Amino acid sequence: MELTLQLKLLPTAEQTISLRAVMMRFNEACNWLAAQAFAQQCTNKLTLQRLYYHELRTLFHLPSQMVVRCLARVAGTYRRDKTICPTFRPDAAMPYDQRIMRFDGLDHVSLTTLQGRVLVAFLIGPYHRQRFDAYAPRQCHLVVREDGQWFLLVVVQVPDGTPIPPTDFLGVDLGVVHLATTSDGTTHSGGAMEACRTRYQTYRRRLQRAAHVAQMDGKRPKNIRRALKRTARREARFRKDTNHCISKKLVAAATGNGHGIALEDLTYIRTRTRFRKPQRATMSGWAFAQLRFFVEYKAALAGIPVVLIDPRNTSRACSACGHIAKANRPSQARFSCQQCGYTTHADFNAAQNIRSRARVNAPLVAGASGAMPLGMGWQYASDKLRHFSASSH
Ligand SMILES: [Zn+2]
Repeated sequence: MELTLQLKLLPTAEQTISLRAVMMRFNEACNWLAAQAFAQQCTNKLTLQRLYYHELRTLFHLPSQMVVRCLARVAGTYRRDKTICPTFRPDAAMPYDQRIMRFDGLDHVSLTTLQGRVLVAFLIGPYHRQRFDAYAPRQCHLVVREDGQWFLLVVVQVPDGTPIPPTDFLGVDLGVVHLATTSDGTTHSGGAMEACRTRYQTYRRRLQRAAHVAQMDGKRPKNIRRALKRTARREARFRKDTNHCISKKLVAAATGNGHGIALEDLTYIRTRTRFRKPQRATMSGWAFAQLRFFVEYKAALAGIPVVLIDPRNTSRACSACGHIAKANRPSQARFSCQQCGYTTHADFNAAQNIRSRARVNAPLVAGASGAMPLGMGWQYASDKLRHFSASSH
């Protein structure tokens, strides 16, 4: 089975110049060769090599193996559509193979440039770091994003039966008004649950008052006590059903797309001031804990990872531009960025941030775009649970 890993490169300023130079030169060479191939109507790599190898070497001063890659790429692209002459952007992804690149441990890769080899540091997520030795890298592409970040996309062969890591994450924001809001824009309303809670609360108060009156009359309000207990059980059952239902939908939404699920790390939840005080008081902690637990175990059953992200500022940061300000959140429901003007539902913005944070350093990406370097760390919920159970015994 083949996977594409995305390694975030951390080139120095000097290395960036070298990488950009070789990338531009390579694409320039590809454009030149494409024009020759198109003029000759030739899609055969070996013929092109025979005709243009030396010219490519002298015109563009590319290392020999890069010329070979240039020939293969132009022939391959041209073969796909013979009616047009292929063109390549100056910053188009550049192929690297084993002869012009080499991994040096788990944090550096040596890449051939016009000035010789450069040793560039890279980041890899914990999941793939542990398994990287077992992967057999096949083919790599050097990629620069519009925001100037460099990546190496590495196609690796992994043994069959390896659990497939996610290509993306479904960010899930848990709240009061909306029990769960996801980064794909789905809202699972807590309206029914909240109405139920209020109804039961009113009923409970009435019962308590009746019990009090009965006690004053010197009676033992046994029936009322029993009714109170029954009410509490019924409410718990209703919440449990709701939580089952929502968690099932969340996991199904992620599974359907091959995504993992990203949640806020529970250990931070007490320190955040996301909710106004009255709300915090009425919201019951166990109901939330239960929803999280249901999501985690249903995800585990479905074989998809749950990552926990640092929740700091998820509700205050703009998911469009990253600007963090308290004023970005003018009301419980609304998000309005003071810097870029992006306006959306507050919970949806938070879910977007949760997803972005999970994607940062998320090792595996197919066609990554728009991932924002907002977050700090993240970890798999299962790793955390394991750690937790290990340390608590
Ligand atoms: Zn903004």
